Amino acid sequence: MVGEMSCIFCQIVAGKVPGEILYQDEKVIAFRDINPQSPTHLIIIPKKHIPSLAHLSEAESSLIGDMVTVANQLARREGISESGYRLVINCGKQGGQLVPHLHMHLLGGRKLSDTLG
Ligand code: 5GP
Ligand code: ZN
Repeated sequence: MVGEMSCIFCQIVAGKVPGEILYQDEKVIAFRDINPQSPTHLIIIPKKHIPSLAHLSEAESSLIGDMVTVANQLARREGISESGYRLVINCGKQGGQLVPHLHMHLLGGRKLSDTLG
């Protein structure tokens, strides 16, 4: 499909665009954000192209649990499990989503803002 072929995150999944991949299994892949907002800033995505959280079907919802499991594992690996971190999923225009492929941000390594936007 045209949308998926032009999707930057699908291209990272396919290995057509370089990414610092830190984890992958059959369903989920994680890589470092190209424009980090904190010392640790990772992106965790389903390999399947799902445009946003709003497009996630009930049958696919367990993917979110898989993504959180990977995020927790990577937080430990990054050494921020004790100091703390934040998981964020932006959804849609007003939610601040720029890349139209469902993704979770893992942010940490500094004191994050007390406000959520
Ligand atoms: P959003 O605003 O959609 O929630 O976040 C998209 C994130 O993807 C941004 O933090 C942005 O820096 C990151 N990003 C966009 N393009 C690329 C890319 O080509 N490679 C990587 N590693 N991250 C990207
Ligand atoms: Zn995609």
